[in-house]
Amino acid sequence: MTSSQSAAPQMTDLDATRASTWTDQLLRRPASLFCLAALALLAGTAIFAPLVAPYHPEAVDTLRRLQGPSIDHWLGTDSLGRDVLSRVIYGARVSLGAAVVSVTLAAVAGTSIGLLIGYLGGWWDSVAMRVVDALQSIPALVFAFAIIALVGKGIVPTTLAVAVIFAIAYIRIARGVMLRERQRRYVDAATAAGLPTPRIIFGEILPNMVGPLVVETAILLGSAQLIIAMLSFLGLGVDADAADWGSMLNDARIYQGVHPFLSIPSGLAITFSVLLFNVLGDDLRDILTGTQRPAAGRRAPQGAVALSAPAAADASCGVAKDEGSQTGGILDVSGLTIEFPVGNNGARVLDGVSFSLCAGETFGLVGESGSGKSQTALAILGLTPKPGMVTAGSVHFEGRNLATAGEHDLRRVRGKEIAMIFQDPMAAFSPVHTIGDQVIVPLQAHAKLSRAAARDRAADLLDRVGVPNARRRLDDYPHQFSGGMAQRAMIAMALTCEPKVLLADEPTTALDVTIQAQVLDLLHELQQEMEMAILLITHDLGVVAATCDRVGVMYSGQIVETGNMSDVFDTPRHPYTRALMEATPHSSSAFGGRLPTIDGRVPPPWNLPQGCRFHPRCRFAIKACTVAPVPLMDGSRCLRAGELLMAEV
Ligand code: ADP
Ligand code: MG
Repeated sequence: MTSSQSAAPQMTDLDATRASTWTDQLLRRPASLFCLAALALLAGTAIFAPLVAPYHPEAVDTLRRLQGPSIDHWLGTDSLGRDVLSRVIYGARVSLGAAVVSVTLAAVAGTSIGLLIGYLGGWWDSVAMRVVDALQSIPALVFAFAIIALVGKGIVPTTLAVAVIFAIAYIRIARGVMLRERQRRYVDAATAAGLPTPRIIFGEILPNMVGPLVVETAILLGSAQLIIAMLSFLGLGVDADAADWGSMLNDARIYQGVHPFLSIPSGLAITFSVLLFNVLGDDLRDILTGTQRPAAGRRAPQGAVALSAPAAADASCGVAKDEGSQTGGILDVSGLTIEFPVGNNGARVLDGVSFSLCAGETFGLVGESGSGKSQTALAILGLTPKPGMVTAGSVHFEGRNLATAGEHDLRRVRGKEIAMIFQDPMAAFSPVHTIGDQVIVPLQAHAKLSRAAARDRAADLLDRVGVPNARRRLDDYPHQFSGGMAQRAMIAMALTCEPKVLLADEPTTALDVTIQAQVLDLLHELQQEMEMAILLITHDLGVVAATCDRVGVMYSGQIVETGNMSDVFDTPRHPYTRALMEATPHSSSAFGGRLPTIDGRVPPPWNLPQGCRFHPRCRFAIKACTVAPVPLMDGSRCLRAGELLMAEV
C-alpha cells in the first residue's frame, strides 16, 4: 500500500440540501392536504360518534318517518323515523372500521407471504404464484360471495373476504419488490455483515417497499369501502338494521319513489370517502414514481494521482506457484471451482482458483471484467449467487472450511472475521436507513453493544475514516453523502468489528482518482493498525502496483499468473499480464501515445476455447497452446513462460 500521507477530504456535502421526503411532498400538495384533513375529520367523527351525533342511530320515531331536512333532523329521517345524520356519522365507524381492519389484515398477511415466497424463490415461488394467479382470475365480488357462502353473512365474514381478496394484491407487490431488491448490493452487504435472514427481509428489504405499499393501501382502503358497501347493499354484509352506509343505501332504494332524498346522504358519504382515498393514492403514486432519488453528492474534480512504490512483500507468507493446495495463510483458498448450470452442462465460472492471504498483507486479484474476481470474493463468504455452486475446492479460515460451512457458521464469520466492501457504495447502502443505523446494526449484532454505545462507536469509526462532523452525519441518508464519503462510510461499516480479513471488491472504481488515492491510503493505514489481511480486487493494474504485496492475475475463471508484486511487474511471465500492463494508463510506455488494447474479450464460461483459455487473443500462441489446458507452473499458466522475454514491455 502507498504510505503517503492521506490528504484532507476533498469535499463534504454538509451543505447538501436535505431531500424532501415523500411525506413532505404530500403535505405540499393542496389536494392531498385536503384529502388528509377530510379523512382525519371523518376518522375523528367516527371515533367520537357518540359525542358528535345528535341522536342515537337506532332511536326510532315512527311519527316522523321519511322526513326531509329540518332544524331537528339536518338530513331528515329514514323509514323508521331514525335521524339520518346520526346514522351517517355512526355508519362511518362501520364502513371505515371494516375497511381499515380488512386492509390491515391483507397488508400484514399478503406482505409477509409475498416477501417469503420472493425470498425463497424456486418452486415455492412457482406454486404460490400459480395459486395467486388462479385466485386473481376470479372477480372480487364473486370471490367474496363464495367466502360469505362458506362462512356466513355478517360484518366479520365480509371483512375477512375483503382481506383475502386484497392480500393477493399485497403478495404480488411484496414478491415483486423482493425479487428486485434481493439482487441489490446492499442485501449482499447486509448478508456479508452477518445479519440474520429475518433481519435482512424485514429490516433491510421491507423498508424499501414502504412507498408501493402506502400507495396500494390508500387505494385499497377506498376499494374496500366500496366492496363492503356493495355487500351490505346486497344484504350480505352488515346487518340490514345497522347504521352502515351500504345498508342505508339499500334501505333508501326501497323508498326511492316516495322519498328520493334518502339515498343522497349515504350515497354521498360512500362516494366522498372512496374519492378521498383514491385522490390520496394517486398523489402518492405520482410523488413516489415521479421523484428520483437524489443523485450522489458532488464529486471532486479529476486530478492526477501519485502512486507510490509498492510495499515489500511479506516474506513469511509463502507463494505457492504451482497447481494445488495453498496453505500457510490466515485464509487459504484452494482449487476453488464454481459452476452455474447452463443448458445440460455446467458453466465453470471459477476453475481451480488457489491463493493464500497472510495477516497484514494485501493480495491483489486483477483481471478484466468477467474474469471471476467478484465470484471469488463472494464464494469466500458463502455468497455465491444461486444457482451457482461451489463444486470443488476449499476456503480455509482459521481451521474451518468455509466452502462447506453451514449458514449459521458463515454468519458468525461474515462481518466479524471477514468483512467485505463493494464497488458501488451507493448501491451497497440501503437507501431508506441512515448511515448511522447501517453502521450501528453490525455493531449491535456482533459486538452486542447497547444502541448508545454502538452509536458512539459508529461516530468514532466515521471520524476515523475521515468523515467530517461524524456524529452529525450519522443521521444522514446515503444519498446525502458524496461518492468518496460514502465509500469511507462503507469502509467504516466493514471495519466495525475489526475483521481479520477484508475483501475489497473494486473499492475505488466508482471514485475519482484523487478520492481513490485517499481511500487507498486510508485502507493502508487501517490495515496497519488492525493487522488486517486485504484481498484487493481491481481491474486497475495501477492500483495493484501501488497497494499490493502479492498479486494473482485472473483470466476466465483461473489465476494465470501469481507472485510477488515486484516480480510480476518487472518480469511478467504470462502474455495476459503483459497485455494488461501495456493497456494500463499508468504505464510509462503508453504516455502520450495511443493506449494499446487487448483484442477480443474474455470468453463466456459456457464457451471456453480448447487449450489455453487466452490463446485466441494471444500474439505468442503456438499450436501446442490450442491442444490441452495449461496448468499453473512456477507462477504462470503459459507454455512459453520461460521462453518469452516477457519483461521487455
Ligand atoms: P469480475 O468480477 O471479474 O468482473 P465476475 O466474478 O462478476 O467477474 O463474473 C465472472 C463470470 O461469472 C462472468 O463470466 C459472469 O458471466 C459469470 N457470472 C457472474 N454472475 C453470474 C450469475 N448470477 N449467473 C451466471 N453467471 C454469472
Ligand atoms: Mg466484479
